[in-house]
Amino acid sequence: MSETTITKPRRILLLGGTGDSRTLAERLAARDDLEVISSLAGRTEQPASLPGGLRIGGFGGVDALASYLEEEGVDLLVDATHPYAARISANAAAACRKTGTPRLLLARPPWQEVEGDRWIRVPDTRAAAAALSGLARRVFLAVGRGELEAFADLPGIWFLVRTVDAPREDLPLENYEVVLGRGPFDADGERALFLLHGIQALVTKNSGGEATYAKIAVARELGLPVVMIERPTHDAEHIVATVEEALAWIESRLS
Ligand code: NAP
Repeated sequence: MSETTITKPRRILLLGGTGDSRTLAERLAARDDLEVISSLAGRTEQPASLPGGLRIGGFGGVDALASYLEEEGVDLLVDATHPYAARISANAAAACRKTGTPRLLLARPPWQEVEGDRWIRVPDTRAAAAALSGLARRVFLAVGRGELEAFADLPGIWFLVRTVDAPREDLPLENYEVVLGRGPFDADGERALFLLHGIQALVTKNSGGEATYAKIAVARELGLPVVMIERPTHDAEHIVATVEEALAWIESRLS
């Protein structure tokens, strides 16, 4: 009589909140030897639907994330969070060290300045706010809701702020308008937005990737300065730039 071995599917925790994490979840969904649980912080009211398991909300710090990894029997962790989501990435690194869970960091390469660009590179949002004085009076502020506070003391500047969900409260800015939108954004739409609002400068993070690059290209085309907030640094033994490379790493760890 032959014996049948039933192999338990391997479990992957996918820290998400980016287009790449969604693509990766979709690419892994077809495999029945894997169970993928995507994790979102819960910042967006109606996140786009994801295949596989989904959990939403913070874990409660390093120790709680480490306990989650152990209790849920997570075999691999893929950190595909946004390159500026530094706290969750640091927590994931520490929790994986603590539990011995292999960790992959998927980080899109940053955009590079090209001829015609007028980038002013700054280390953080405070420095970005300081760079705006005397630079422009109408600014497209393409940073997250949590970072607007840094621009509160600039009463002479009018800001255009883009959010996925309509803000429930007033933003911490004196003069502003909110436009709703969820990427990807194309150059025609971005150009129309810049021209409609008389934008004179752009403040952005260096997110990398195609989905939100159009605003950089339009700023170049219109000859406008871009205050570019540089990325925080990440430490990771295994780091890849694309979904394809992430799939190859996962394959190599499972075989
Ligand atoms: P963060 O500052 O690094 O994280 C703050 C806290 O939020 C973390 O300590 C963690 O709470 C929780 N958290 C963050 N990402 C999580 C995830 N994927 N799953 C479960 N808990 C998570 O992060 P953030 O900059 O606020 O970004 C939040 C989310 O938005 C991330 O998923 C990120 O990929 C996405 N996002 C961020 C940006 C950006 O510019 N920062 C842009 C686009 C998308 P606990 O400590 O309680 O576990």
